Amino acid sequence: MMLNYDAPLYRPPSEARSLIFQVTLGCSFNECSFCDMYRSKQYSEKPWDEVKMEIDLMAKQLPDTRKIFLADGDALNLDSEYIVKIVKYLYEKFPNLERISCYAMPMNILKKTPEELKKMHDAGLDMLYLGIESGSDIVLKKVTKGAIAKTIIKSVNKAKDAGYIMSCMIILGLGGKTYSKEHIRGTAEVISACSPNYVGALTLYLENGIKQEFLEKFGEPFIRITDDESLEELYDLISQIETKEEIIFRANHGSNAYTIKGTFPQDKQAMLDKINWMKQHPEIMRPEGLRGF
Ligand code: SF4
Repeated sequence: MMLNYDAPLYRPPSEARSLIFQVTLGCSFNECSFCDMYRSKQYSEKPWDEVKMEIDLMAKQLPDTRKIFLADGDALNLDSEYIVKIVKYLYEKFPNLERISCYAMPMNILKKTPEELKKMHDAGLDMLYLGIESGSDIVLKKVTKGAIAKTIIKSVNKAKDAGYIMSCMIILGLGGKTYSKEHIRGTAEVISACSPNYVGALTLYLENGIKQEFLEKFGEPFIRITDDESLEELYDLISQIETKEEIIFRANHGSNAYTIKGTFPQDKQAMLDKINWMKQHPEIMRPEGLRGF
């Protein structure tokens, strides 16, 4: 018997082979105008007896599990002591476990003390996935992200200081044509100021259910950027990121027209050269019908 998940269930692409436990349902914020992942769910936290029962069940079925992802949208919103209890129990029941991760919002991290963050990390919560989306305060406000550049930088650095591996997402095209330059400039500044271990660049993709809300909240006509402009944003973003720390950069998500990957700082020029080459070869673009989340 497998777990009876409460749909829809989301996880980062890199957790495709991880065992997932839904320790929370939905997202405690649920207001970002570009995201409809959890609109059908009311945020709730699963009680210990249910979590324990599911862990016990899967420990019998998949005892060799090496990676676990805690869902849904921001499991880090749980009380720190509760997370420690869950994480410790997971390591107890899965002897080969190597990594536990979950989604987190900047506010989840900022609400915890450095000691709480350290305690959860020491217990075995290793990695957090955080949506930066944009580093421009104007764009962040227009998409009702509930965070500003300063709080994003602070949260990523705070988590890194506590030992977490940080994997962050940004969204190309989020400011539309009007705020394209501002969006990229701010995003490069945020990434440079906190150097997440991983950065993934996605492209804005509005599901039908959320499109109207996004356009209304944007507060002025939203002009989508073209594929060429998206490639330009990618070029500008990479060229403006300044870091001495290693950042594994990926723009290979299914929503993107073009695929780029490399590691900062050493691959920066190679990535820029590849984009220049791509500009001359539009035939390698992922067809629009094959893109999505
Ligand atoms: S982007 Fe993240 S924080 Fe925002 S509504 Fe979606 S799941 Fe919640």
